[in-house]
Amino acid sequence: MPHVITQACCNDASCVFACPVYCIHPSPDEPDFATAEMLYIDPDSCVDCGACVRACPVDAIYPDTQLPEKQLPFVEINRSYYPERPEGVKLPPTSKLAPVLPAAEVHQRGKYPLTVAIVGSGPAAMYAADELLTQPGVLVNMFEKLPTPYGLVRAGVAPDHQQTKLVTRLFDEISWRRGFNFFLNVEVGADVSHADLLDYHHAVLYASGALHDRRLEIDGMGLPGTGTATEVVGWYNGHPEFTGLPIDLSHERVVIVGNGNVALDVARVLTRDPNELAHTDIADYALAAMRDSKIQEVVIVARRGPIDSAFTLPELVGLTQAADVVLDAEDHARVRNDLATVRDTFTRQKLEILAKLGDASAPITRPRIRFAYELTPARVLGEEHATAIEFTRTGTDQVRRLDAGLVLTSIGYHGTPIADLPFDDAAGVVPNEGGRVIDPTTGQRIPGAYVTGWIKRGTNGFIGTNKSDSLLTIHTLAADYNAGLLGEPKGGPRSVARMVHARKPDVVDAAGWKAINNAEKARGAAEDRPRVKFTRTADMLDVVEDQHKDLPLLQNLLGALRRR
Ligand code: NAP
Repeated sequence: MPHVITQACCNDASCVFACPVYCIHPSPDEPDFATAEMLYIDPDSCVDCGACVRACPVDAIYPDTQLPEKQLPFVEINRSYYPERPEGVKLPPTSKLAPVLPAAEVHQRGKYPLTVAIVGSGPAAMYAADELLTQPGVLVNMFEKLPTPYGLVRAGVAPDHQQTKLVTRLFDEISWRRGFNFFLNVEVGADVSHADLLDYHHAVLYASGALHDRRLEIDGMGLPGTGTATEVVGWYNGHPEFTGLPIDLSHERVVIVGNGNVALDVARVLTRDPNELAHTDIADYALAAMRDSKIQEVVIVARRGPIDSAFTLPELVGLTQAADVVLDAEDHARVRNDLATVRDTFTRQKLEILAKLGDASAPITRPRIRFAYELTPARVLGEEHATAIEFTRTGTDQVRRLDAGLVLTSIGYHGTPIADLPFDDAAGVVPNEGGRVIDPTTGQRIPGAYVTGWIKRGTNGFIGTNKSDSLLTIHTLAADYNAGLLGEPKGGPRSVARMVHARKPDVVDAAGWKAINNAEKARGAAEDRPRVKFTRTADMLDVVEDQHKDLPLLQNLLGALRRR
């Protein structure tokens, strides 16, 4: 029986390299890997060995006989990546194994082993650490502003996508490796500077991503009742910087501008039955707000037509299984027109799903989602609070108004500038060549500074896309180190810890994170939830503090001595 990759696919390609017959594509060396919405198993070449199942970090692969019912559409989605061919003809005929990019070899030199500071602790950071630690002796110090690691996996992935969060098992394993240290609750640019880090490391690698949205500059944005989808994502995920947001769910309609996967996540969570969310790691205050929610409809509005929908096919499949999704008659007509011209297989599949959606004229029986097309946002209406949003029919002066008590924009993330490094504001990235930071005025490299992930390539791709991206940056960094282009640190590993403790006495280490993690899981176990998150930094630090109190005196003394 062939195996099937399903909705939670993270694209990190571990399965591609585990497969003994190279039947999972695209592989990272193939041109469409960077844009692929997921990876696909060729059912005619699969030998059913299960190696991919064991390699997948998010448990997204099943034998086709054991597929959960909701994942059945993925049988056809996997198959349709591959060309039609006579029965028994296998693809590809050329190779038995996927071509692997060799590890970034490090030739140790100088007084100290290669020591790299990684700033950020999301997927790009963790995959970079993974690659560096394949080399003997290398040291990785990871700096994170929050007391908890894993970036958007903790604070961005929707709470009802718990399977996607399974990738943290892999990240935990990486963080337990010899040579890896966490410096959590330390803000680079505030508590310690780039220059401080460079003093004690050969290189500083920024994987700080993009926490904030691109902003839509139209009149009325900024009124109470307006905001951005990523703020709502941070809010329901309990990110300490977003917990206090006044997200008001007391109105019947929400409008989201933009129809990418973030818009789908937010619409799905806002319309989901709170009793289902109660079994996730959603923030407690958000769950309470959902229980009191008056929302009846979330309208996801795109400025272009159905054929250009920004959401991916796997996410559309998941959305239509989780919620009632409808279209106006005029949008149904647009879908039919697009179906007549579409050529790309996966876009066709998206359109076919849209064509089968119910009609928006039907009475609302439970909170639902409506897609709307070809509407360009013009202004938000309201005096004290948003009451509606006005659009023009794209390409015309025709005005269309949608009443709404909450207007969210979801038009993409935007990279966050990094103190002391150049920034390309238009692209939202740090200028770089293969991850090596470049000064755009001189075209020269900035010694010791590197980037990976969204801050390097822009806000696209999936969790696992960062694996191959980080591998390329580590190749660049290792080549520069081997060529003697990186300065020698001022001191060894203990001097880094001393410097950080002097600047930020309540820095949280791996043991501190373990204490927070265990405490959250224990709170969750009592309620049949994966965890109940702490959403205030002070509460997390209290747990770390209590853990110090519980440690025997000798262990505390040893810890303090180690930092001297
Ligand atoms: P996105 O996919 O880039 O979608 C942005 C949307 O905003 C598009 O519909 C775009 O329309 C629209 N837009 C941009 N500027 C606009 C303007 N001025 N006025 C009106 N509409 C405008 O962004 P995203 O949803 O934030 O996702 C970011 C990345 O994260 C994507 O790669 C996404 O796949 C990934 N992600 C994945 C998942 C998942 O797999 N579950 C979840 C969340 C995020 P046009 O197309 O017309 O420009």
